[in-house]
Amino acid sequence: MTKLCEHLPFVQLAEQYGTPLYVYSQNALTQAYQHYVHAFSGCRPLICYAVKANGNLSIIKHFAQLGSGFDTVSGGEIARVLAAGGDASKIIFSGVGKTVAEMEFALNAGIKCFNVESLPELDRLNEVAARLDKIAPISLRINPDVDAKTHPYISTGLKANKFGIAMADAERAYQHAHSLKNLRIVGIDCHIGSQLTDLSPLVEACERMLNLVDKLATQGIVFEHIDLGGGVGIVYKDENVPDLAQYAAAVEKMLAGRNLSLVLEPGRSLVGNAGTLVTRVEYVKHGEEKNFVVVDAAMNDLMRPALYQAYHHIENAAENGQPEIVADVVGAICETGDFIGKERKIAAQQGDLLLVRSAGAYAASMASNYNARCRAAEVLVNGDTARLVRKRETLDDLLANERDLL
Ligand SMILES: *Cc1c(COP(=O)(O)O)cnc(C)c1O
Repeated sequence: MTKLCEHLPFVQLAEQYGTPLYVYSQNALTQAYQHYVHAFSGCRPLICYAVKANGNLSIIKHFAQLGSGFDTVSGGEIARVLAAGGDASKIIFSGVGKTVAEMEFALNAGIKCFNVESLPELDRLNEVAARLDKIAPISLRINPDVDAKTHPYISTGLKANKFGIAMADAERAYQHAHSLKNLRIVGIDCHIGSQLTDLSPLVEACERMLNLVDKLATQGIVFEHIDLGGGVGIVYKDENVPDLAQYAAAVEKMLAGRNLSLVLEPGRSLVGNAGTLVTRVEYVKHGEEKNFVVVDAAMNDLMRPALYQAYHHIENAAENGQPEIVADVVGAICETGDFIGKERKIAAQQGDLLLVRSAGAYAASMASNYNARCRAAEVLVNGDTARLVRKRETLDDLLANERDLL
């Protein structure tokens, strides 16, 4: 039985475009986006797709056409959104380390909001805006100090994390922002972490933020929007993921009677399950203690297993009742941490194609050239048509920035 992305067999796509290959389902992208829009329709939200999950221009363009805004964390990501035809007035600029050049770029582009993460950043932004004779729209990223109960590397809302302004300092920070002439306070935001499998920290964060909103209102500081950050977790294996409708109902109830619009910044949950990494088996190695399936994708293509011990489901693209073995699925990179999956029961013979599932988010966007490997091609499937949306990198691309300097 050969497996399909929408109406197209992965085997056919691999033959046409080569491997390793990222394949995305356009329909899955649309469904995921509409799921947010419908669930939160009572709050008329602006969904700002978090570009760092997958910055492919065609994916950005698709979300832009659906009406999405964008959450960005660098000048490069803002440039990607603009290049893809995204609307500058729907861009949020987050991140702890915004440079002067990035601020200038974003101010000139006319973005919706800077999500400011520290007092020195407020001062710098005010100076840059003054120099350009502009008023920067700002929100402060507040750290609500709730435990997102996710992997420590993607937990961002605890006191010990580098992100945001501590709840205890929030009033002072807003008063300071209020006093700066070239800033305009438009919002308040938080983002407590990614791959959240429990709703309660999200709801608790929202409650704490609204308490702060009420406190600040008594001091004459009012907001146009509240931004609750990233989206809910997705199923990689057998996780219980939060029900979006339940999350939306809780938020709608908390926002009722308030003159606050809602911004959300989902990344993973918009693209994660829409993507598959297709890879070919190079060798099956029967070791003394373990079996290894060596594939042509590696940690440079998909870093999540090495970085977070993340699980991705792996299956054969054409299961025909072949014998299964238990093996580690590994890449060719000279690192023991280079694995795609450990101790998997899998049918895999030399030359077979394997599908690495849920590889739409934090996958291609984290790819590197380690071991002088060219980054994979990416394909977007819509029904029975496939479109190349990123060419496979070539060795010429890899050498270009150095060769002439020899
Ligand atoms: C990464 C990030 C997001 C997206 O998080 P997901 O879990 O992928 O939805 C949203 N906002 C900010 C500030 C981020 O850093």
